[in-house]
Amino acid sequence: MQYRELNGSDRELVDAAFEAIRRNHWPDHHHVRAAVRAGSGKVYVGVHLESPGVDVCAEWSAVGSAAAAGERELTCIAASSRTALMSPCGICRELLHYFSPQMDVIVPTDEGPRKVKITDLLPIPYADPSPHNGQ
Ligand SMILES: [Zn+2]
Repeated sequence: MQYRELNGSDRELVDAAFEAIRRNHWPDHHHVRAAVRAGSGKVYVGVHLESPGVDVCAEWSAVGSAAAAGERELTCIAASSRTALMSPCGICRELLHYFSPQMDVIVPTDEGPRKVKITDLLPIPYADPSPHNGQ
């Protein structure tokens, strides 16, 4: 896996995720925020939604906000709790890889936040074996 240093744009994305959860934390309903940069350069924020039966990751709502605004490409994403940067769960890795297989993900490391390709986090994504996918 190749870790890369963050640039100014990446640090803005991390700050957007942290700022969003600091400003709008709703105890017992969400604990994670995500900020995704789209191909247009705009940043969309998402929130983890918790309920008794279903949880939705912050990455999903950030990607949904970007898609609802007409974005078709994602370039980078960061997610955080109130205190720490977070790496996406396995289901989010599948979602991010499916929408933008070239995108970067900002993850925590022992040396601080670093950027990796989603293909490094998920080298072999799920492949739909059903007949409608052209195989
Ligand atoms: Zn997730």
